Amino acid sequence: TVVRTSMQDRLQTLLPQPLQAVLTEVAQLAEQQGWQLYLVGGAVRDLLLAEQPPKLQEFDLVVDGVHTGESEGAALAQLVQQRHPEAQLQIFGQFQTAALLWNQDPVLGTFAVDIATARSEFYPYPAANPEVTASSIRQDLYRRDFTINALAVRLTPHRQRQRQGGELLDFFGGLEDLQQRQVRVLHPNSFIEDPTRIFRAVRFATRLGFEIEGQTERYVRNAISSGIYQQTQGENQKTPALQARLRNELKYIFKTDYWPTALKLLENLDALQCLHPQLNLGQNWWKQSRIVLRWHHSFDPEAKAIPQWLLILEHLLLELPPELAHPVAITLHLSESSQQRLKTLATTQQALAQLLSSAEPRPSLIARQLQQIDLALLLLLAARGDLALRCSIWQYLNYWSQLKPLLNGSDLIRLGYQPGQQFKQMLSELWAEMVDGTLRDRATAEQWVQHQYPLM
Ligand code: ATP
Repeated sequence: TVVRTSMQDRLQTLLPQPLQAVLTEVAQLAEQQGWQLYLVGGAVRDLLLAEQPPKLQEFDLVVDGVHTGESEGAALAQLVQQRHPEAQLQIFGQFQTAALLWNQDPVLGTFAVDIATARSEFYPYPAANPEVTASSIRQDLYRRDFTINALAVRLTPHRQRQRQGGELLDFFGGLEDLQQRQVRVLHPNSFIEDPTRIFRAVRFATRLGFEIEGQTERYVRNAISSGIYQQTQGENQKTPALQARLRNELKYIFKTDYWPTALKLLENLDALQCLHPQLNLGQNWWKQSRIVLRWHHSFDPEAKAIPQWLLILEHLLLELPPELAHPVAITLHLSESSQQRLKTLATTQQALAQLLSSAEPRPSLIARQLQQIDLALLLLLAARGDLALRCSIWQYLNYWSQLKPLLNGSDLIRLGYQPGQQFKQMLSELWAEMVDGTLRDRATAEQWVQHQYPLM
């Protein structure tokens, strides 16, 4: 439950002192320029919800410059950086925002302060990228996604009312929605304007343990049945940005532990249609996804071959026929290797099934085939293939690929062979014999080499 206290108290009790000092300093600099400064977005939401000091690393600030100039945000960030040369300054001209980054600072740790100029966004047409014009804080908050994300704390003193900073600005009932634990959208067209908000609604609902408010859910369903998929696929120049944001939202979701709950909710809302209208997950998919994650933890514990989010996303897209999965992967800007896996999984699976169903295939034949396949694809094949394939991949990853060679190049030289191209082949054949279990010690391995490759 939300405790209604002055935000000033909340900031003081929940934020580490050095961080408070930075925010106060930024507010003073803004005030000296005659600007108002607000803390907005996720930090306000999380500070209101927190019972313990939350781990906040991102602070979104908005400058409301009375003169409706368009670059107060960047100007303020520059002033702050003059005082804090240890912070890295990044300016993003197009959106009039600037970011200051403290990276592993001995006092402040790692955190980012984003400073934007108050703005409203109007959408020239649905699903387009926001176009930006300068405006006041209320409008800035109105363009945001959900009421719980549209709260602001004034950090500068209120000039007319002679009030101290710390006032909570709640124009859209965000505080009550925090108390009611609801994700509520700010306006009916929100999801049509920006379909990524559907994924954001689900992400916040799942992460915070909130409900998607009833009317908001109807807006989601309307947006989806109005054919959002076509919008995300459009040819216009704004869609690449939308698709990249969609990919990022999927990434955020699949990175978490709560992704299954989020994905079930997305399924429930028919939101997977945003990726492709034919994308449906059956019982089997969920079973396979447990396998793929277990194998990922065992065989790629540091996620060097593939990160969890991408593995789940690929596994998801593999529910589409191969000729559909690949274009979706391109649309979502997935890497070349991802695209390749989506394109080749079905045929690789078939070829392996054929090999496994032939009469007693030599293990080394199977091992050689598996050796050609990258680990990420092996994990997907293990989860999605039948038991025979899963067992072979298990044996390959656990045993065959781990075999310590009985002989190496120096041993071959010692046996009298001339180093050269042929060594690679000899060692590879030796490995195949080991996989087949015909060679178990160095002596038999040496005899085998001498027999196979007689010295002149
Ligand atoms: P998190 O804790 O996950 O970072 P956050 O609320 O800070 O949550 P961000 O994605 O960092 O989320 O976005 C910052 C703020 O920008 C949000 O609180 C929201 O007000 C606004 N915002 C972000 N994406 C959108 C969007 N697609 N439409 C409208 N507003 C958005």
